[in-house]
Amino acid sequence: MTKDRRIQKLAIANRGEVAVRIIHACRELGIRSVLLHSEADQATRAWRMADERVCIGPAASAESYLNVEACVRGARAGGADAVHPGFGFLSENAGFARAVIDAGMIWVGPPADAIEAAGDKISAKKLVADAQAPTVPGYMGEDQRIDTLVEEAARIGFPVIVKAAAGGGGRGMKVIRSRAEAPELIASAQREGQAAFGSPVVFLEKYLDRAKHIEVQVFGDFTGQVSYLMERECSVQRRHQKIIEEALSPSLTPELRRAMGEAAVRLAEKANYESAGTVEFLLQDEKFYFLEMNTRLQVEHPVTEMVLGVDLVKAQILNAARAFQVWPQESLVARGHAIECRIYAEDAYAGGLPSTGRLLGTHWPEGPGRRFEVGVEAGDEVTPFYDPMIAKVIVWDESRLRAIRKMQSVLTESVVMGVETNIPFLKEMLAHPEFTEGRMTTQFVGQHFPEGLASADHQARRHNELTRAFASFAKTKISRGATTGSPMGSEDPTRAVWSSPWRLM
Ligand code: ADP
Repeated sequence: MTKDRRIQKLAIANRGEVAVRIIHACRELGIRSVLLHSEADQATRAWRMADERVCIGPAASAESYLNVEACVRGARAGGADAVHPGFGFLSENAGFARAVIDAGMIWVGPPADAIEAAGDKISAKKLVADAQAPTVPGYMGEDQRIDTLVEEAARIGFPVIVKAAAGGGGRGMKVIRSRAEAPELIASAQREGQAAFGSPVVFLEKYLDRAKHIEVQVFGDFTGQVSYLMERECSVQRRHQKIIEEALSPSLTPELRRAMGEAAVRLAEKANYESAGTVEFLLQDEKFYFLEMNTRLQVEHPVTEMVLGVDLVKAQILNAARAFQVWPQESLVARGHAIECRIYAEDAYAGGLPSTGRLLGTHWPEGPGRRFEVGVEAGDEVTPFYDPMIAKVIVWDESRLRAIRKMQSVLTESVVMGVETNIPFLKEMLAHPEFTEGRMTTQFVGQHFPEGLASADHQARRHNELTRAFASFAKTKISRGATTGSPMGSEDPTRAVWSSPWRLM
């Protein structure tokens, strides 16, 4: 490590649970953290935990977390010598990477050229062809006239999926099932691409309607060595957004695992990739097809960390400081099974409607093989400005079945008061035989829970769940003498939990 690459103070251009995750890594590495935050994120968990804070702008992301200039200015004002972008926001923005470097700081992530080559959905497909990895058949041409696109869709054969070339996070994508609906759906994808990502360019792919989402974690060090850290399965998705992820996938043979891992490494090498990256594939009928590469840390990285015994965030920071050598491939052996559930502030009984408000209290039940990545705590406001994911629950156990049981038990005992969450929905999904048997595809949620949890029966069940969860919470937290009598002040625990003004912590 040369002296000028030492990182003493790291700016975090992000918020919520990933900011907390990065602050933990900084503390453990003896690096000071500077949180770049919006006006809406004052007095949040990450804000309290960071060593220093710089307000970079108003609540609207476009003026704060998505504003390159504001982030660079904030990092410099905070005296940072490096910037970690987390995920989402500017994490895959090559212009931001360049601006950080031009301002004399270290970028904790892949080189800007690699972000451009591998992160762009269309140019990545060209690299993939070079790397001899299969892609989903489709159309990526420059001719963007609706007529041409409809003709191409018919040639590919319905169902077809149209995607915004600059899209991400499941947005700007539509499944087209017939020629009749093609013109309108293509036009609407173009409009969405323009509105959300600033580009109307779309491309088409054959829609694989019984596929699993399997993604390979790769890591490249600054000397050019790349290893793969096995895979995660993220087939449980709603509207193309992941909800439950696990490592390893219950569906891969060792041969398929190696073939996918090696294809991912070839792609990373072609892009001169460095740092953490994820190569996403769809798997159908034992054949895998490249989907896209995410040139950043992934939300679901903890499941890989749990089964492989690595710390991807520290590896990113140390690699940026030129003080890291990638784990040799043969040393990367997975043990046991890990599952992650994303906790969203939303009403599972009202079709996933976002739920906002002040958090009254939370309880995350500690125990062996459990990890909680939490972005909010009692007193924090869940605002409508950002992604509704407030926490992630990750469990590890020796087998997949045990991990599922552990997750169910952890979710039963977890309590979030003040906003609604998707916890009841997660428990339903974890209990479904298609999931427990590992047969789920990306159609799982749409097929088995087309309306979320809407029935009266579920309402009744929610009541019971809350009663149980609250009883366990009350036992661990309240019986210590802070309150006397019933802390709920009402006979109806459901109503009391969601409306009680009392504060625990
Ligand atoms: P994003 O960048 O928005 O996350 P992706 O291309 O990674 O978009 O796709 C997200 C999800 O959409 C996939 O995990 C899968 O469920 C679905 N999907 C995307 N492309 C296809 C396809 N060709 N066939 C079937 N499903 C697809």
